[in-house]
Amino acid sequence: MTKPWDAIIIGGGAAGLFCAGVAGQLGKKVLVLDHADILGEKIRISGGGRCNFTNLHSGAANFLSLNPHFVKSALARYPAKEFISLVQSYRIAYHEKHQGQLFCDDSAKEIIDMLFSECAKGNVQIKNPVVVQSIVQDAGSWLVRTNGGIEISTSLVMATGGLPVPAIGATGYSLDIAKQFGLNIIDPRPGLVPLSFTSEEFDNLSELAGLSLPICISAGSKGHRYGACQFNEDLLLTHKGLSGPAVLQASSYWTEGQAIHINWLGIAEAYGELNIEDLLNNDENRLKLTETILASVMPQRLAKTFAKQKNLLGRKWAEVSKKDQQALKDLITNWSVKPAGTLGWKKAEVMLGGVDTKEMDSQTMMSRKHHGLYFIGECVDVTGHLGGHNFQWAWSSGFACAQAI
Ligand SMILES: Cc1cc2nc3c(=O)[nH]c(=O)nc-3n(C[C@H](O)[C@H](O)[C@H](O)COP(=O)(O)OP(=O)(O)OC[C@H]3O[C@@H](n4cnc5c(N)ncnc54)[C@H](O)[C@@H]3O)c2cc1C
Repeated sequence: MTKPWDAIIIGGGAAGLFCAGVAGQLGKKVLVLDHADILGEKIRISGGGRCNFTNLHSGAANFLSLNPHFVKSALARYPAKEFISLVQSYRIAYHEKHQGQLFCDDSAKEIIDMLFSECAKGNVQIKNPVVVQSIVQDAGSWLVRTNGGIEISTSLVMATGGLPVPAIGATGYSLDIAKQFGLNIIDPRPGLVPLSFTSEEFDNLSELAGLSLPICISAGSKGHRYGACQFNEDLLLTHKGLSGPAVLQASSYWTEGQAIHINWLGIAEAYGELNIEDLLNNDENRLKLTETILASVMPQRLAKTFAKQKNLLGRKWAEVSKKDQQALKDLITNWSVKPAGTLGWKKAEVMLGGVDTKEMDSQTMMSRKHHGLYFIGECVDVTGHLGGHNFQWAWSSGFACAQAI
């Protein structure tokens, strides 16, 4: 009989391939099994095809998890600067786009090729497409039955990612295996996802589809699963609702029935650099039309829509009652609205929830209940903010695991 593998990794995406390369180069005999015809598809489509592969500022505060401390050890042992050094060693050109977000200059394919090269250096064997039919633990070994036969290993690493974008082969298989072995799962939900609205809530904003502007958004609350958040980023109005970085970020903190709050004047008003009271009470503006005053601090189309919404279109500010003035101020600086839902797994970038971190050792990613069973990447209840943090978690958790197997 052939010598069993040191590790079988199920899922050859970001976390699985990275972990395989590191473990292989540490001298481990590693097999990667994946059901897809082509590996690394999520990397390929990430960052608009340019892969936002990490973030210069990636730290515990950028992650949502029921245990916010869980990520600390793995991030400290494999921080963003380590992955950047690896990228540099492959001479992959990259640039910083916004708030520490690093993107490839050319193509996400360069990151995929790099991961394959790292695997090749570690003599990692990759089999795909393979259907994993069952996994059992027997006398300290892991037996993986596939449509190509049985594979045996000392360690089993689950790295099948999360549920977003089922069209490219996303499954919840790691969660199924966690459940099979009695581990708790934190209810999975779509994260970094556009929000949808009923036509009543959305009024005539859908007419502005395509408009993008910087805003300040808050969502969640102290008692909420992941607490409260506030982001100063761009919002994009679409036919279906709200999207853009600000809304994607807030969506991870939002739950059904809750309101989100938007200050349409963005960071300038939220931080007191622009005062809506001063603007509206300025004597020079008294004889101006409401929409003209608003258009001095926001896109004209939006200014008109807001004035129309409050029946103030074409009205001089001096003629507007105190009550209507207040209603307009509230609409602009604290638009409180309840989204109807999200656009779901098809449009989500990440999965919130996953294998409960209480079940795992934060140093190694190993299950506390089952020796040799590991979970890495998106299948764990660790979800990053938008901006390269999710890949950083894939690299950091994969690295921690590779040291332990
Ligand atoms: C459109 C989009 C854009 C994104 N852009 C970014 C970005 O720019 N920056 C960023 O940080 N994050 C981004 N993300 C998130 C990022 O892609 C994921 O967080 C990351 O890929 C997770 O890595 P992973 O290895 O856990 O899972 P994945 O990379 O998804 O890999 C999982 C692997 O498991 C395989 N698999 C699944 N089920 C099975 C099964 N039953 N049997 C065998 N194999 C299986 C899959 O085929 C896949 O190869 C984006 C996500 C999406 C959807």
